[in-house]
Amino acid sequence: MTQVLRNWIGGEWVPSSAERTEQVFNPATEEVIALVPLSTKEDVDRAVQTAEEAFKSWSATPVPRRARVLFKYQQLLVEHWEELAKLVTQENGKSYGEAYGEVQRGIECVEFAAGAPTLMMGKQLPDIASNLESGMYRYPVGVVAGITPFNFPMMVPCWMFPLAIACGNAFILKPSERTPLLANRLAELFKEAGLPDGVFNIVHGAHDVVNGMLEHPQIEAVSFVGSQPVAEYVHKTASAHGKRVQALAGAKNHTIVMPDADLDLTVKEIINAAFGSAGERCMACSVVVAVGDVADSLAGKLAEAADRLTIGNGAEEGVFLGPVIRAPHKQRTLSYIELGEQEGAHLLRDGRQDEAADGKGYFVGPTIFDGVKGGMKIWQDEIFAPVLSIARVDTLEEAIELANRSDFANGACLFTKNGSHVRQFRETIDAGMLGINLGVPAPMAFFPFSGWKKSFYGDLHANGTDGVEFYTRKKMVTARW
Ligand code: NAD
Repeated sequence: MTQVLRNWIGGEWVPSSAERTEQVFNPATEEVIALVPLSTKEDVDRAVQTAEEAFKSWSATPVPRRARVLFKYQQLLVEHWEELAKLVTQENGKSYGEAYGEVQRGIECVEFAAGAPTLMMGKQLPDIASNLESGMYRYPVGVVAGITPFNFPMMVPCWMFPLAIACGNAFILKPSERTPLLANRLAELFKEAGLPDGVFNIVHGAHDVVNGMLEHPQIEAVSFVGSQPVAEYVHKTASAHGKRVQALAGAKNHTIVMPDADLDLTVKEIINAAFGSAGERCMACSVVVAVGDVADSLAGKLAEAADRLTIGNGAEEGVFLGPVIRAPHKQRTLSYIELGEQEGAHLLRDGRQDEAADGKGYFVGPTIFDGVKGGMKIWQDEIFAPVLSIARVDTLEEAIELANRSDFANGACLFTKNGSHVRQFRETIDAGMLGINLGVPAPMAFFPFSGWKKSFYGDLHANGTDGVEFYTRKKMVTARW
């Protein structure tokens, strides 16, 4: 019997009131591994009432005591590292090595949140005028909701709930309905670490849960990570309901390669950035912009390196490239490959021809287009799959201009040995996370994850002190003695 997942409310498993469920697949085998309930607005309300009650005592718990629960949680996550990584591979499809790295990124968020006593500190000025002093005190905001995507079932929820909870809030998570399993273990382990019941809750489902959260009057803040149209919708709707919102969205990241770049390093980094996690990363490299005469050798080396990648079930040793998440996503990817050919790009490596693309599991081999031009759909749209475009330009200015024409502005990378190129790139590129001689410039938990343009809606980013600002509100006290 396939297990039907339940919601986690008040520190226990509670059946959803929903009659409808959705199948959860192992994307490498197409096996159904669970049924996820499509919970209702009533389920959301039940979680909110529980969270609101738990918030009263949790927000009044001294910050060092809250932090101690985070320390214990960190220990438990480390002890369960392999189990968590296996779950990520099973429900998401990424290789075990990538999943292991993802768990690390999640644990780092918990480590950052455990610094709550320092992070929550306010500020004072003892003499704003004669005998007048002023001080700023920081408090949690209340019940907070988090809505997360399928591509990082561990890391992305960990961008949100550990810090929100360390800051004294109660949290309700709606994980992706395509990867709901890992979140359940995160909840159980948090309880084991000593988190009081009701401070962390999970409501499984899809649109109805999201809308229930966006409209709920007792939810003060919403953190969202997912695709661009949904991020825009979540930002608008939650704002209209008077909530603070941070909505991290899609991407189309450009990597510029200068003729003086170390080509072996460049190829290694680009292959990992474009095809790691099957290209299903918001920091994936999706467009390489080759400047000047580096283009021919770079394209040739990328195609050769892509030929050498092992495609298969991420749970197996030595596999680099796992499946994409679902059959419709594979179909969409294949349509983009056809479209690229119709648009006149040169298909340098065709991932449809790889043996794995024909068998069980949602596999698409590494695909590379050369001669891609700004304005083509394959240049413009986030494909979110192992499909890499190469564009050729003559100068760094043209490369930056092409990258800046994208609607998205999450990350951008430059490969060069020249410091003045680095400076020019840093000063003129429109993107929030830059990499120099590396392929995936994802900041660590103590820095903000800072996409620009249509890659982000809101003002305070996830993680770092931005995250602390987002999950707290301030009281200013001015006193005369
Ligand atoms: P998605 O937008 O389909 O889903 C994200 C969440 O929104 C899920 O929990 C889903 O249930 C919910 N949702 C989906 N459609 C909805 C709708 N119409 N109304 C209400 N809720 C809805 O995204 P995904 O496919 O799970 O994840 C991939 C996307 O996430 C990519 O675009 C990727 O770039 C983006 N992403 C961005 C970042 C970042 O930091 N900017 C990080 C990871 C992923």
